[in-house]
Amino acid sequence: MTPHSAPALPVASRLRGFGSSIFAEMTELAVRTGAINLGQGFPDTDGPAALLAAARAAIDAGHNQYPPANGVAELREAVAADREIRYGTSYDPGGEVLITTGATCAIAAAFLALCDAGDEVIAFDPCYDSYSASISMAGGLLRPVPLRAEGDRFAFDPDELAAAITPRTRLLLLNTPHNPTGKVFTRAELEVIAACCHEHDLIAITDEVHEHLVYDGRTAQSLAALPGMRDRTLAISGAGKTFSVTGWKVGWACGPRRLIRAVQTAHQFLTFNSGTPFQVALAAALHDHGSWTTRLRQSLQEQRDLLADGLRRAGFAVYQAEGTYFLQADVRPWGYDDGVALCRDLPERAGVVAIPSVVFYQGADPPRNLVRFAFCKRTTVLTRAVRALQAAAG
Ligand code: GLN
Repeated sequence: MTPHSAPALPVASRLRGFGSSIFAEMTELAVRTGAINLGQGFPDTDGPAALLAAARAAIDAGHNQYPPANGVAELREAVAADREIRYGTSYDPGGEVLITTGATCAIAAAFLALCDAGDEVIAFDPCYDSYSASISMAGGLLRPVPLRAEGDRFAFDPDELAAAITPRTRLLLLNTPHNPTGKVFTRAELEVIAACCHEHDLIAITDEVHEHLVYDGRTAQSLAALPGMRDRTLAISGAGKTFSVTGWKVGWACGPRRLIRAVQTAHQFLTFNSGTPFQVALAAALHDHGSWTTRLRQSLQEQRDLLADGLRRAGFAVYQAEGTYFLQADVRPWGYDDGVALCRDLPERAGVVAIPSVVFYQGADPPRNLVRFAFCKRTTVLTRAVRALQAAAG
C-alpha cells in the first residue's frame, strides 16, 4: 500500500520509488476479498447506448486502422467546437487539438515534451498519482503547493504558491475539478493562478477530465479561458469520465500550435495515437452531449449525497465534494490516526475498499487521517456499502 522499490528488478532511477498504482492494487484487493470497490474511480454503469452502438458500427464500417497522428479529424473538430461553446476558447482543429491515449498519456507527453532535466513543475498537493511519476520520467521535479482543509473544503495559500516558484519553475499543473479532494477551483482562485503564470512566464497544463462532474449548480471553468491564458495553457481532458467509458482511453489536449506540436512530438513515439473506432464514435457524441452530461451530473450528485450522508451516519467526518467521483473522509472518529491502517482493515471490517489519501501527497508531513471514497457506483451498491459501514461502526 506504500510505494516500494523492487530491489530484484533493474528499475531505472527515474522510476525508483514508484511501485504499482494504488488504484490497481486496491481493485485487486476488492476482487480478492469480494469487498465493494469504492477505491478506483470508475463507474459501474455503461455510457450512453448510442455511443456504444456507434463504436460497434465504426468497427463494422471498417474504421480499424491507424488514425492520423493527431487523431481522427471529426473528433478534433468536435473537441474544438465543444470548448468554444462551453468556455469561449477557440482552437484550430488542424493544429491546436491533439487526440491522445487518455488524458494520462497527454499529461505524460506534455512533461516529456516540455521539461528539461531539473525543470520544476508546480502542482497542488495532494495530486493524482501519475503526475509525480510522469514528471520524474521526464527528468523534472514536482514542487508541491499544499491544499489545506478549511472548514469542509480545501484551499491554497497564494503566498505558498508564490514561494514555491524558483528560477527553474517552467510549468504549473492544475487539476480542477480536483482528484482526490473533490475541490472545484473558484474563479477567484483561477485568477490568482493565472496571475502567477503571467508573472513568472509559466506554461499551464490543466487536467480537466472531471470537467462535467460538478455539483450544486456549479459550472466548470477552464484556466485557458482567463484573459491571456489561452496561449500559455495546454488544456487536457478526455472522454472517460464525460461518457462513463474510462476503459476507452481517449483523451485530448488543446492549446497554441507550438505547444501542441511539442506534445505531439512526444506522444507519437509513446502510443502514436488512440483507438480509431472509439474516436469516430466519440466525435458524434461530443457534438450533442448536453442531456447526457446533465443527467450524469444529477445522478452523481445524488450518489454523492447518499454516500456522504451514509459516511456521516457511520461516524466519519466528511469533506464537501464539489466535483469529481470522489469525497474524502476523516477517519479519526473511528479511532484511527492513519488512513492506511483503516483501509487495510476495511475489507474485513465492513467489506468495503477505499484509498488512503496519503498516497496522493508529495510534500513533507502529509495529513494521514484522510481516506478517499468513490461514489460513482450504483445506488444499490452505495446503499450496501453504507449499511455495512454503519454496522461495522456500531
Ligand atoms: N482516475 C482513477 C482514480 O483516481 C484511476 C485511474 C487508474 O486506475 N489509473 O481512481
